[in-house]
Amino acid sequence: MSDKTIEFIEKGRRLDGRKLDELRPIKIEVGVLKRANGSCYMESGGNKVMAAVYGPREVHPRRMEDATKAIVRCRYNMASFSVEDRKRPGPDRRSVEISKVSREAIEPIIIKEHFPRSAIDIFIEILQADAGTRTAGINAASVALADAGIPMRGLVSACATGKVGGHIVLDLMKEEDNYGEADVPIAMDVQNDKVTLLQMDGRLTQDEFKQALELARKGCKEIYEMQRQALIAKYTV
Ligand code: ADP
Repeated sequence: MSDKTIEFIEKGRRLDGRKLDELRPIKIEVGVLKRANGSCYMESGGNKVMAAVYGPREVHPRRMEDATKAIVRCRYNMASFSVEDRKRPGPDRRSVEISKVSREAIEPIIIKEHFPRSAIDIFIEILQADAGTRTAGINAASVALADAGIPMRGLVSACATGKVGGHIVLDLMKEEDNYGEADVPIAMDVQNDKVTLLQMDGRLTQDEFKQALELARKGCKEIYEMQRQALIAKYTV
């Protein structure tokens, strides 16, 4: 966040021509990797994300296994060519944090009790980053889990809302993320109306926060419908 003055909204339209409550274009492809049990390639605006799911499979190291349920592990990684300046390869504080919050966002929908002593591994690779990679990664991972046939209570859908130029907007793009007043990534189990991820960078009043939450709910519903359609398209012959 910074104080740089940008005219974010003019005549109800944003810098990229979107309305305040409009998502960037989304493309979802299911089952694109041969070796993974489930996979999904997703584009969301300028974000290009691959998610791969392996498992349920044996846990290594064995001491990590749980006799009552599967363990879920998640790794979020940004390719060094995914951003304008080359990103140093390997984990950093940000990717460790995003791996953790992504796992926590996804885990509640997985019926882990079906697979004691096993592991479900989720890999999220960001090939191109354009703000909102954590939410795009969660969306792709959720579809990849379904593609892997993992029993789930629903799908997790995620998007960011935020405040730019004094307005609450849906799905922040890069300039809005960098120079806006607040960024609020949210993930939800839409069918059960449960929030599984909520972060906030910046400040909002209580009213603005409620507005942001409602907008995120609308965005997540739209994404859920696209995830569902992509899965139906893949599995309907
Ligand atoms: P998210 O991608 O979930 O919005 P952040 O708010 O941390 O997460 O990052 C916003 C955007 O900043 C990213 O989508 C990416 O475009 C850019 N970014 C993040 N890390 C780096 C980095 N190391 N180098 C260059 N750009 C980065």
